Amino acid sequence: MSDITGGLIADLNRQKKHAENLAAREKAERDGLDKLPTIASLCLARPLYDAVETDSRVYLRMLRGEPVQFDAFCTGCGTTSIFKDQLSRGGGAGSSQANDWMLQPGQFNIIVFCQRAGHKYTFCFDYRDSKLLKFGQMPSLEDVAGQDIRKYAPLLRDGYFGELKRATGLASHGIGIGSFVYLRRIFEKLISDHHTTLEKSGKAVEGFATLRMEDKIGALKDVLPPALVKNKAAYSILSSGIHALDEDTCRSYFPVVRAAIIEILEQDLRAREEAKAAAALEVEIARLAGAVKSAAGPVK
Ligand SMILES: [Zn+2]
Repeated sequence: MSDITGGLIADLNRQKKHAENLAAREKAERDGLDKLPTIASLCLARPLYDAVETDSRVYLRMLRGEPVQFDAFCTGCGTTSIFKDQLSRGGGAGSSQANDWMLQPGQFNIIVFCQRAGHKYTFCFDYRDSKLLKFGQMPSLEDVAGQDIRKYAPLLRDGYFGELKRATGLASHGIGIGSFVYLRRIFEKLISDHHTTLEKSGKAVEGFATLRMEDKIGALKDVLPPALVKNKAAYSILSSGIHALDEDTCRSYFPVVRAAIIEILEQDLRAREEAKAAAALEVEIARLAGAVKSAAGPVK
Protein backbone atom coordinates (compact mmCIF):
# COMPACT_ATOMS: atom_id res chain seq x y z
CA MET A 1 0.00 0.00 0.00
CA SER A 2 1.46 3.36 -1.06
CA ASP A 3 1.73 6.30 1.28
CA ILE A 4 -0.96 8.08 -0.76
CA THR A 5 -3.43 5.22 -0.47
CA GLY A 6 -2.65 4.84 3.21
CA GLY A 7 -3.24 8.56 3.74
CA LEU A 8 -6.54 8.41 1.85
CA ILE A 9 -7.76 5.48 3.93
CA ALA A 10 -6.74 7.26 7.15
CA ASP A 11 -8.62 10.35 5.90
CA LEU A 12 -11.71 8.33 5.08
CA ASN A 13 -11.59 6.68 8.50
CA ARG A 14 -11.31 10.08 10.18
CA GLN A 15 -14.28 11.36 8.16
CA LYS A 16 -16.29 8.25 8.99
CA LYS A 17 -15.47 8.62 12.69
CA HIS A 18 -16.41 12.30 12.56
CA ALA A 19 -19.76 11.50 10.92
CA GLU A 20 -20.42 8.84 13.55
CA ASN A 21 -19.63 11.28 16.34
CA LEU A 22 -21.99 13.86 14.83
CA ALA A 23 -24.76 11.27 14.48
CA ALA A 24 -24.27 10.16 18.12
CA ARG A 25 -24.34 13.78 19.31
CA GLU A 26 -27.48 14.46 17.27
CA LYS A 27 -29.15 11.37 18.76
CA ALA A 28 -28.18 12.35 22.32
CA GLU A 29 -29.53 15.87 21.76
CA ARG A 30 -32.76 14.53 20.25
CA ASP A 31 -33.16 12.25 23.28
CA GLY A 32 -32.62 15.28 25.53
CA LEU A 33 -35.39 17.29 23.84
CA ASP A 34 -38.09 16.04 26.20
CA LYS A 35 -36.32 17.78 29.08
CA LEU A 36 -36.65 21.12 27.30
CA PRO A 37 -39.90 23.07 26.92
CA THR A 38 -41.71 22.45 23.63
CA ILE A 39 -41.77 25.36 21.21
CA ALA A 40 -45.48 25.83 21.94
CA SER A 41 -44.99 26.02 25.71
CA LEU A 42 -41.96 28.27 25.29
CA CYS A 43 -44.05 30.69 23.24
CA LEU A 44 -47.40 30.37 24.98
CA ALA A 45 -46.72 29.57 28.63
CA ARG A 46 -43.17 30.52 29.54
CA PRO A 47 -42.87 33.87 31.36
CA LEU A 48 -40.71 36.57 29.77
CA TYR A 49 -37.07 36.70 30.94
CA ASP A 50 -37.29 33.18 32.39
CA ALA A 51 -34.12 31.65 30.90
CA VAL A 52 -33.89 28.11 29.53
CA GLU A 53 -30.37 26.68 29.89
CA THR A 54 -29.42 24.79 26.74
CA ASP A 55 -26.57 24.00 24.36
CA SER A 56 -28.65 21.60 22.32
CA ARG A 57 -27.93 22.22 18.64
CA VAL A 58 -31.01 20.22 17.67
CA TYR A 59 -33.26 22.31 19.90
CA LEU A 60 -31.78 25.65 18.88
CA ARG A 61 -31.87 24.67 15.20
CA MET A 62 -35.58 23.89 15.57
CA LEU A 63 -36.17 27.32 17.09
CA ARG A 64 -33.86 29.37 14.91
CA GLY A 65 -34.12 27.75 11.52
CA GLU A 66 -36.86 25.17 11.08
CA PRO A 67 -40.57 25.54 10.25
CA VAL A 68 -42.71 26.01 13.36
CA GLN A 69 -46.28 24.88 13.90
CA PHE A 70 -48.48 24.62 17.00
CA ASP A 71 -52.08 24.90 18.16
CA ALA A 72 -52.99 27.94 20.22
CA PHE A 73 -55.95 30.03 21.24
CA CYS A 74 -56.28 32.78 18.62
CA THR A 75 -57.26 36.09 20.20
CA GLY A 76 -58.38 37.30 16.75
CA CYS A 77 -60.70 34.36 15.99
CA GLY A 78 -61.75 33.75 19.60
CA THR A 79 -61.09 30.04 19.23
CA THR A 80 -58.25 27.54 18.95
CA SER A 81 -56.37 27.64 15.67
CA ILE A 82 -53.28 26.15 14.05
CA PHE A 83 -50.37 28.62 13.92
CA LYS A 84 -47.60 28.25 11.31
CA ASP A 85 -44.74 30.41 10.16
CA GLN A 86 -44.73 31.48 6.51
CA LEU A 87 -41.22 32.78 6.00
CA SER A 88 -37.86 31.11 6.27
CA ARG A 89 -36.37 32.59 9.41
CA GLY A 90 -32.77 31.77 8.51
CA GLY A 91 -30.04 31.27 11.07
CA GLY A 92 -30.16 34.77 12.49
CA ALA A 93 -26.40 34.52 12.93
CA GLY A 94 -24.92 34.64 9.46
CA SER A 95 -24.86 31.84 6.97
CA SER A 96 -26.81 28.76 7.88
CA GLN A 97 -23.91 26.83 6.34
CA ALA A 98 -21.54 27.96 9.10
CA ASN A 99 -20.75 25.30 11.63
CA ASP A 100 -22.78 25.54 14.81
CA TRP A 101 -24.52 28.71 13.58
CA MET A 102 -27.39 27.93 15.94
CA LEU A 103 -25.08 28.32 18.95
CA GLN A 104 -23.99 31.83 17.98
CA PRO A 105 -25.18 34.56 20.34
CA GLY A 106 -27.95 36.63 18.85
CA GLN A 107 -31.60 37.52 18.72
CA PHE A 108 -34.31 35.98 16.59
CA ASN A 109 -38.08 36.05 16.21
CA ILE A 110 -40.63 33.33 15.76
CA ILE A 111 -43.54 34.77 13.79
CA VAL A 112 -46.52 32.50 13.20
CA PHE A 113 -49.90 33.07 11.59
CA CYS A 114 -53.30 31.70 12.47
CA GLN A 115 -54.33 29.37 9.65
CA ARG A 116 -57.99 30.42 9.86
CA ALA A 117 -57.58 34.14 9.22
CA GLY A 118 -53.89 35.04 9.22
CA HIS A 119 -53.75 36.59 12.71
CA LYS A 120 -50.12 37.16 13.60
CA TYR A 121 -48.32 36.06 16.80
CA THR A 122 -44.73 37.26 17.33
CA PHE A 123 -42.23 35.95 19.89
CA CYS A 124 -38.77 37.52 20.38
CA PHE A 125 -35.84 35.54 21.75
CA ASP A 126 -32.26 36.13 22.79
CA TYR A 127 -29.61 33.40 22.98
CA ARG A 128 -26.17 33.80 24.57
CA ASP A 129 -23.99 32.11 27.20
CA SER A 130 -26.09 28.93 26.89
CA LYS A 131 -29.19 30.84 27.99
CA LEU A 132 -32.26 31.16 25.85
CA LEU A 133 -34.82 33.71 26.94
CA LYS A 134 -37.97 35.22 25.56
CA PHE A 135 -37.91 38.99 25.90
CA GLY A 136 -41.07 39.95 24.09
CA GLN A 137 -44.28 38.70 22.56
CA MET A 138 -47.44 39.93 20.85
CA PRO A 139 -50.17 39.27 21.86
CA SER A 140 -49.18 39.08 25.51
CA LEU A 141 -49.36 35.90 27.56
CA GLU A 142 -52.08 37.63 29.54
CA ASP A 143 -54.18 38.12 26.40
CA VAL A 144 -53.72 34.56 25.17
CA ALA A 145 -54.29 33.03 28.61
CA GLY A 146 -57.04 35.54 29.42
CA GLN A 147 -59.22 34.27 26.58
CA ASP A 148 -59.96 30.95 28.21
CA ILE A 149 -61.24 32.67 31.35
CA ARG A 150 -63.39 35.38 29.72
CA LYS A 151 -66.55 33.28 30.17
CA TYR A 152 -66.14 33.46 33.95
CA ALA A 153 -66.30 37.26 34.05
CA PRO A 154 -69.99 37.34 35.19
CA LEU A 155 -69.08 35.13 38.19
CA LEU A 156 -66.24 37.36 39.39
CA ARG A 157 -67.62 40.81 39.98
CA ASP A 158 -66.29 43.81 41.93
CA GLY A 159 -63.02 43.90 40.01
CA TYR A 160 -62.04 40.33 40.88
CA PHE A 161 -62.09 39.24 37.25
CA GLY A 162 -59.62 42.02 36.42
CA GLU A 163 -57.42 40.74 39.24
CA LEU A 164 -57.48 37.23 37.81
CA LYS A 165 -56.24 38.60 34.48
CA ARG A 166 -53.66 40.75 36.22
CA ALA A 167 -52.41 37.75 38.20
CA THR A 168 -51.83 35.86 34.96
CA GLY A 169 -50.09 38.89 33.47
CA LEU A 170 -47.78 39.37 36.45
CA ALA A 171 -46.93 35.67 36.47
CA SER A 172 -46.08 35.92 32.76
CA HIS A 173 -43.47 38.50 33.73
CA GLY A 174 -42.03 36.12 36.31
CA ILE A 175 -43.43 38.04 39.29
CA GLY A 176 -44.13 35.41 41.95
CA ILE A 177 -45.39 37.03 45.16
CA GLY A 178 -47.35 39.81 43.43
CA SER A 179 -49.23 37.45 41.13
CA PHE A 180 -49.86 35.03 43.97
CA VAL A 181 -51.38 37.69 46.23
CA TYR A 182 -54.00 38.44 43.56
CA LEU A 183 -54.82 34.75 43.21
CA ARG A 184 -55.10 34.42 46.95
CA ARG A 185 -57.58 37.32 47.15
CA ILE A 186 -59.72 35.70 44.44
CA PHE A 187 -59.56 32.28 46.06
CA GLU A 188 -60.55 33.72 49.45
CA LYS A 189 -63.38 35.68 47.82
CA LEU A 190 -64.74 32.52 46.15
CA ILE A 191 -64.55 30.56 49.40
CA SER A 192 -66.29 33.35 51.32
CA ASP A 193 -68.99 33.66 48.59
CA HIS A 194 -69.71 29.94 48.80
CA HIS A 195 -70.07 30.17 52.56
CA THR A 196 -72.48 33.10 52.14
CA THR A 197 -74.58 30.91 49.84
CA LEU A 198 -74.68 28.19 52.50
CA GLU A 199 -75.59 30.78 55.14
CA LYS A 200 -78.53 31.93 53.04
CA SER A 201 -79.84 28.38 52.89
CA GLY A 202 -79.53 28.17 56.69
CA LYS A 203 -76.44 25.91 56.69
CA ALA A 204 -73.86 28.38 58.00
CA VAL A 205 -70.67 26.85 59.43
CA GLU A 206 -69.97 28.10 62.93
CA GLY A 207 -66.71 30.03 63.35
CA PHE A 208 -66.09 29.81 59.60
CA ALA A 209 -64.07 33.02 59.40
CA THR A 210 -61.47 31.78 61.89
CA LEU A 211 -60.91 28.36 60.24
CA ARG A 212 -57.70 27.58 58.38
CA MET A 213 -58.08 27.45 54.58
CA GLU A 214 -57.80 23.68 54.53
CA ASP A 215 -60.69 23.37 57.03
CA LYS A 216 -62.77 26.00 55.23
CA ILE A 217 -62.51 23.92 52.06
CA GLY A 218 -63.51 20.83 54.05
CA ALA A 219 -66.49 22.64 55.56
CA LEU A 220 -67.69 23.65 52.08
CA LYS A 221 -67.28 20.16 50.59
CA ASP A 222 -70.88 20.04 49.34
CA VAL A 223 -70.56 23.16 47.21
CA LEU A 224 -66.94 22.96 46.00
CA PRO A 225 -65.49 20.77 43.22
CA PRO A 226 -64.69 17.27 44.59
CA ALA A 227 -61.09 17.34 43.28
CA LEU A 228 -60.43 20.55 45.17
CA VAL A 229 -61.85 19.12 48.40
CA LYS A 230 -59.83 15.93 47.95
CA ASN A 231 -56.58 17.90 47.60
CA LYS A 232 -57.44 20.51 50.20
CA ALA A 233 -54.08 20.05 51.99
CA ALA A 234 -52.38 21.63 48.95
CA TYR A 235 -54.08 24.92 49.80
CA SER A 236 -52.67 25.23 53.31
CA ILE A 237 -50.21 27.58 51.59
CA LEU A 238 -53.12 30.04 51.46
CA SER A 239 -53.15 30.25 55.25
CA SER A 240 -49.51 31.25 55.65
CA GLY A 241 -48.71 34.90 56.17
CA ILE A 242 -47.56 36.97 53.21
CA HIS A 243 -44.20 37.49 54.92
CA ALA A 244 -43.63 33.71 54.93
CA LEU A 245 -43.89 33.49 51.14
CA ASP A 246 -40.93 33.74 48.80
CA GLU A 247 -40.81 34.23 45.02
CA ASP A 248 -40.02 30.59 44.22
CA THR A 249 -42.75 29.15 46.46
CA CYS A 250 -45.30 31.53 44.97
CA ARG A 251 -44.22 30.72 41.43
CA SER A 252 -44.46 26.99 42.01
CA TYR A 253 -47.93 27.21 43.65
CA PHE A 254 -49.32 29.67 41.10
CA PRO A 255 -50.54 27.09 38.52
CA VAL A 256 -52.07 24.89 41.23
CA VAL A 257 -54.08 27.70 42.81
CA ARG A 258 -55.05 29.17 39.43
CA ALA A 259 -56.31 25.75 38.31
CA ALA A 260 -58.34 25.47 41.53
CA ILE A 261 -59.94 28.86 40.90
CA ILE A 262 -60.83 27.85 37.33
CA GLU A 263 -62.28 24.57 38.64
CA ILE A 264 -64.54 26.40 41.12
CA LEU A 265 -65.64 28.90 38.46
CA GLU A 266 -66.32 26.11 35.98
CA GLN A 267 -68.52 24.25 38.46
CA ASP A 268 -70.38 27.46 39.37
CA LEU A 269 -70.88 28.31 35.72
CA ARG A 270 -72.34 24.86 35.04
CA ALA A 271 -74.64 25.15 38.06
CA ARG A 272 -75.76 28.58 36.89
CA GLU A 273 -76.49 27.30 33.37
CA GLU A 274 -78.41 24.30 34.73
CA ALA A 275 -80.48 26.59 36.96
CA LYS A 276 -81.19 28.83 33.99
CA ALA A 277 -82.27 25.86 31.86
CA ALA A 278 -84.49 24.56 34.69
CA ALA A 279 -86.12 27.98 35.10
CA ALA A 280 -86.75 28.23 31.34
CA LEU A 281 -88.29 24.76 31.40
CA GLU A 282 -90.59 25.75 34.26
CA VAL A 283 -91.76 28.85 32.39
CA GLU A 284 -92.44 26.72 29.33
CA ILE A 285 -94.40 24.14 31.37
CA ALA A 286 -96.44 26.93 33.00
CA ARG A 287 -97.17 28.41 29.56
CA LEU A 288 -98.30 25.04 28.21
CA ALA A 289 -100.43 24.41 31.31
CA GLY A 290 -102.02 27.85 30.82
CA ALA A 291 -102.67 27.07 27.16
CA VAL A 292 -104.26 23.73 28.04
CA LYS A 293 -106.44 25.39 30.69
CA SER A 294 -107.70 28.14 28.38
CA ALA A 295 -108.33 25.60 25.60
CA ALA A 296 -110.49 23.60 28.04
CA GLY A 297 -112.52 26.75 28.69
CA PRO A 298 -113.74 28.17 32.01
CA VAL A 299 -114.66 25.69 34.70
CA LYS A 300 -118.42 25.62 35.27
ZN1 LIG B 1 -57.17 33.83 14.07
